[in-house]
Amino acid sequence: MPEVLLPQFEGFVPLTTPATSAHAAGTLVDKYGRHITYIRLSITDRCDFRCFYCMAEEMEFLSRDQVLSLEECLRVIRTFVGMGVTKVRITGGEPLVRRNALWLMREAGKLEGLQELVVTTNGSQLDRYAAEMVAAGVKRVNISLDTLRADRFKSVTRVGESDKVLRGIDAAIAAGFSGIKLNAVMMRGVNDDELVGLVRFAVARGIDISFIEEMPLGTVDHPRADTYYSSDEALALLKPHFELVGSDETTGGPANYWRIPGMRTKVGFISPHSHNFCDSCNRVRITCKGELYPCLGQNDALALMPVLRGHPEDDAPLRQAIVDSMGIKPKGHDFNEQMQDPKVVRFMSMTGG
Ligand code: SAM
Ligand code: SF4
Repeated sequence: MPEVLLPQFEGFVPLTTPATSAHAAGTLVDKYGRHITYIRLSITDRCDFRCFYCMAEEMEFLSRDQVLSLEECLRVIRTFVGMGVTKVRITGGEPLVRRNALWLMREAGKLEGLQELVVTTNGSQLDRYAAEMVAAGVKRVNISLDTLRADRFKSVTRVGESDKVLRGIDAAIAAGFSGIKLNAVMMRGVNDDELVGLVRFAVARGIDISFIEEMPLGTVDHPRADTYYSSDEALALLKPHFELVGSDETTGGPANYWRIPGMRTKVGFISPHSHNFCDSCNRVRITCKGELYPCLGQNDALALMPVLRGHPEDDAPLRQAIVDSMGIKPKGHDFNEQMQDPKVVRFMSMTGG
């Protein structure tokens, strides 16, 4: 069971210059001096897919009252933004299957001080919602796409239709997001023969792509060590096909980026195993149950739901809990490349990717 801790820690550092607004009242700094400017909020554990690396085939989902209401989600976002967070990612489960997710995006999109509102989605609902998301102020979208082959897509997602996602990608391009990135989890024997094709697909559309090393989150039906495929292997595989020039640009995330000269596409690698990115970690995650996880790869969390529900009119206890969470942010995760037993008992769909 995750440990839920409530240490007191002076993690909220007031700016030395006078605050010009509530949004500039301070910044969140953890005990290793890392500034927290980015939150990822999972707004549902539910999903219309069952990707085999993310979920077990039979999942039990939370009941409605166990999940933060959208009003509570907005309160969490508003409070973090008031404490110096400038980037918010709405994720899930599949965020676009939550009813009224667009309301939350519209309200968050109005918050002064929030510079980047971004969403991670499996793309299945984008043909319906992409234009509304742009209008709501969503700047960028990450769309998961592990394979271009319809048969494979069905077996990876267990239930998904790739046509719908491909239509969603087209809709996202037409809607005019300022950035679109595909996310592909690399899996040996599953899609490692498609990495070149996925980059070509991204290049043809002028969008970015990141390859993700599979992480041992939650207990799934396959031995993860069998499918684990490293970023270094992927880079070696891609290099004969593309001129890849290392880039030090970052979107504040853990990917290492490569450019293809003359093309708009950036190719990124998210390598929690082989290239630990903890030193520059600037984020915390909040699950749909309102648990604040300072690290994706550890089990320590701080429960925000009792604070939210216990103090519906007063944000001070919520701010204090957020400050306290800075004290339990660990130096780093310790995923190992052997991917043996899952150190982290929860699924990615709970914590949000
Ligand atoms: N449903 C949305 C989607 O698929 O994009 C958002 C949530 S999903 C949990 C976010 C990202 O996490 C996806 O890109 C997914 O591929 C990735 N993911 C899920 N489980 C993972 C795992 N065990 N290791 C690495 N990435 C994982
Ligand atoms: Fe759903 Fe995303 Fe997990 Fe796939 S990766 S099961 S789409 S939450």
